[in-house]
Amino acid sequence: MTCLTIHGVTNDCLFCRIVAGEIPADVVRETDSTLAFRDIRPKAPVHVLVIPKAHYQDVDDLTAADPGLAGDVLAAAAAVAQAEGLPTAGYRMIFNTGGYGGQEVFHVHAHVLGGAPLGPMVSPA
Ligand code: AMP
Ligand code: ZN
Repeated sequence: MTCLTIHGVTNDCLFCRIVAGEIPADVVRETDSTLAFRDIRPKAPVHVLVIPKAHYQDVDDLTAADPGLAGDVLAAAAAVAQAEGLPTAGYRMIFNTGGYGGQEVFHVHAHVLGGAPLGPMVSPA
């Protein structure tokens, strides 16, 4: 498995490997600072992940370190929603964060979900 250097630290991260082109992804949008690709296990007819190309583990770290880049991610997610035709009917944007948030991949990502009614925001505990 390849190790990448992220912020000067040797690291290994699934989404960094997608950015590096080491793992294939169904890319729908790319900017200088962001990448958007379809979720491999979609939870809705449209399910796209939007990430900064730079590695930050979650939305807290990203926003504290680089609010401008956090804005780029939001703008990219909104552009994806627009391109997928989601805003008229409505859609959902989610940043799962940490253990209680159910985060599984620790490279910050926005989920853009839509294309059908999405049900309750949170399932009962
Ligand atoms: P989270 O639980 O918020 O960390 O979400 C991680 C998401 O990454 C899940 O919805 C997975 O289905 C998705 N995922 C995992 N591996 C890949 C991959 N190789 N390509 C695209 N999506 C992936
Ligand atoms: Zn990463």
